Amino acid sequence: MHLSSLLTRFNEPETLKMAKLGRELKAKGIDITDLSLGEPDFDTPDHIKEAAKRAIDENYSHYTPVAGYLDLREAICGKLLRENGLEYKPDQVVVSTGAKQSIANTVLAIVDAGDEVIIPTPYWVTYSEIVKLAGGIVRLVKTTFEHGYKITPEELEASINDKTKLFMFSTPCNPTGAVYSKEELAALADVFRKYPHVFIMSDEIYEHINFTGKHESIAQFDFLKERVIIINGLSKGYAMTGWRLGFIAGPVEIAKACDKIQGQFTSGANAVTQRAAIAALTGPMEPTHAMVEKFRERRDKVVILVSEIPGISCTVPPGAFYVFPEVKSYFGKSTPAGEVINNADDLCMYFLNTAHVSAVTGKAFGEPNCIRISFANSTANIEKGFAKIKQALANLK
Ligand code: PMP
Repeated sequence: MHLSSLLTRFNEPETLKMAKLGRELKAKGIDITDLSLGEPDFDTPDHIKEAAKRAIDENYSHYTPVAGYLDLREAICGKLLRENGLEYKPDQVVVSTGAKQSIANTVLAIVDAGDEVIIPTPYWVTYSEIVKLAGGIVRLVKTTFEHGYKITPEELEASINDKTKLFMFSTPCNPTGAVYSKEELAALADVFRKYPHVFIMSDEIYEHINFTGKHESIAQFDFLKERVIIINGLSKGYAMTGWRLGFIAGPVEIAKACDKIQGQFTSGANAVTQRAAIAALTGPMEPTHAMVEKFRERRDKVVILVSEIPGISCTVPPGAFYVFPEVKSYFGKSTPAGEVINNADDLCMYFLNTAHVSAVTGKAFGEPNCIRISFANSTANIEKGFAKIKQALANLK
């Protein structure tokens, strides 16, 4: 079959691949402990579900405006002002079917063939692939364990050139959990001040899953705001991954461009989800806070569990719900079946097929010496998964 060359430009997400492989083994009756998940294991809060039920009864069953209902965009502006101190108008907001679509819209709106895009590494899998899909050139800038996996102003400045069009990052970061402080963002903003041709995509989807205190957005620096596109959504903070709702907030021109692109791809996001989103963004935050407290307890537990395994180490993640330990001391060892573990891919496949626990290879996030282990799972499952990992590693010779 002769399909488009576009398909050869990018890869399928490794995270989804692991989840799929895990499901296949589960379907065969194997007890898989899934630590590959990128979503809260909690249910959507009741007040949000009630709003959706009402929306169905009120016949929210028609096409929606491409950019989203006006009252939802107003609720998003309200959230940005209340929680982030940022002023946006509804015409600067575009609602999409998940933050993933918001990111795709943004990249397609900004990046031309041959444009360079800087991505501090480790990074979320989709960034590089969307850039490649748009014909852009990915410039990965490796950050270090020592700097808590955050790009420094010097590293940023050294990577910018005339062709640089966009800088893409997440805070809190998936996969490392790194959280940028206001001072760190200010230092990056000072670099961007010198390079007015560079846009900044700030992915803040893990905003609420933050164990260090207040979330800071790079959009707070007024001189930069006209170049910042905030990405956010409801998946992580409100346990609404399956509802599919994300949004951008940014300059009007970018919002118009995203609206135009989305108008051809999918039109407006799901009507019922949008009504539920208003309830989420204007309703009580206690369910989110309770969820974050659970994540914090598990984070503390997981960091201890990592420290109890010889030969691996991780930073203490200040945000998101993953640990990202370095596992390279196991490369070159052999499994009981005689297979050599050459890299993090091999290690994750060995964990899945032999120990029946799934984690995601760091290669997918641009860091082949690490693996990503999610703690968006019950403490019992986390303990079970880590016991399996510990034993599987001990079995390598
Ligand atoms: N950005 C990051 C950093 C993510 O981890 C994810 C989800 N894994 C997304 C965006 C996409 O979220 P959504 O479910 O809203 O598409």
